[in-house]
Amino acid sequence: MLASVYNDGAPVTIGILGGGQLAKMSALAAYRLGLQVAIIEPAEESPAGNMTKHDFTEGWLSEPELERFIEASDIVTLENEFIPVPILERIAERRLVLPSPETMRLVQDKFIQKETMRASGIPVPEFAAINSVQEGYDFGKAHGYPFVMKTRTLGYDGYGNATVTRDNQTMVAFTRFTSDPDVPRQMMAEAFVTFQKELAVMVARNRRGELAVYPCVETVQENHICRYVLAPAPDLTAETRKRAQEIAVAAVEAVQGVGVFGVEMFLTNTGEILYNEIAPRPHNSGHYTIEGSYTSQFENHIRAVCNLPLGSGDLIAPAAVMANVLGKRIGSGTPDTVTALFRHDKVAFHLYGKRTSRVGRKMGHLTVLGASVEEALASAKAAEADLFW
Ligand code: ADP
Repeated sequence: MLASVYNDGAPVTIGILGGGQLAKMSALAAYRLGLQVAIIEPAEESPAGNMTKHDFTEGWLSEPELERFIEASDIVTLENEFIPVPILERIAERRLVLPSPETMRLVQDKFIQKETMRASGIPVPEFAAINSVQEGYDFGKAHGYPFVMKTRTLGYDGYGNATVTRDNQTMVAFTRFTSDPDVPRQMMAEAFVTFQKELAVMVARNRRGELAVYPCVETVQENHICRYVLAPAPDLTAETRKRAQEIAVAAVEAVQGVGVFGVEMFLTNTGEILYNEIAPRPHNSGHYTIEGSYTSQFENHIRAVCNLPLGSGDLIAPAAVMANVLGKRIGSGTPDTVTALFRHDKVAFHLYGKRTSRVGRKMGHLTVLGASVEEALASAKAAEADLFW
């Protein structure tokens, strides 16, 4: 076990499972701290894989490739929460894996995740496991319509969710996700939350349990994909912000999380905060921290898994706004007018270096700091308006 990553002066290599933009931005932070990275991802030319000679492009399902990745890594983390737990356990026999396989087991299945949170006293919407269409009807009868049917595993950006507005939709929603015999899916149902805002808080926690807690932000979604992140979340009382941070910390502690975590919550129409879900990795709602905070979520993730002291997550400006740059077509991964963006000389532009775009795919993001969220959002929208695909 590594006592300190800087013990003997030899560069330490952080192995990252997944090679997308989250791994890329984590790798940038690692390099800045004098560390190196190894990437495993079942793809050539991944955004993070391209940054290192330790690029394992056959992915973790290939035994020999996984073996080579383990050999190249001193400590292992992930950017992808869908890595099967047995694979994480296998790596953990040889290397420290953070977040731990046990944390990932508690998080990967949304039903187990919600049970874990509820058992820790965290406020969650009513929910139940749904193992048959009849149990779906029973849930609707008990908790009313609409409700949300969710796949317990492998859901992202709303894929895996269906809103059931009346009883005769239960069967369709259930069979839609469970009819493929090759992809066995377990389902759960959750009461529909009428919310004013969706909130998120990033929390970094190291192996000693030390914390860095970022501000409460508002996430604005369109078609289930995050469009904007507003930091700090506007129009909230100080008490609500603090409550969101407390719930986020409790959620990370409930799963004994080490690393950085994004905790998503609802602010209901009655002013209550309800937990939605936790991302056991750097999260889109924390990208603004690269320019907006003393210490970015990526740096604190690396520090946390290396058991280093954490940096402050406080904002360095009154406000920061992040806008996702989403693909608008199938084609090149670079917008046609990309250079126009650089004329906005106070906008920080990140292009992830993905080879191809798809409609709705996260291709990059931009961040603007400002004297207020309104001002920063207006600048972000002006910059976005110059991007054409
Ligand atoms: P994913 O894992 O796909 O991101 P989530 O469970 O976070 O799935 O749901 C995606 C979005 O669906 C949420 O951001 C929210 O807008 C909406 N949603 C999820 N659960 C509920 C709920 N119980 N009530 C109302 N809306 C919900």
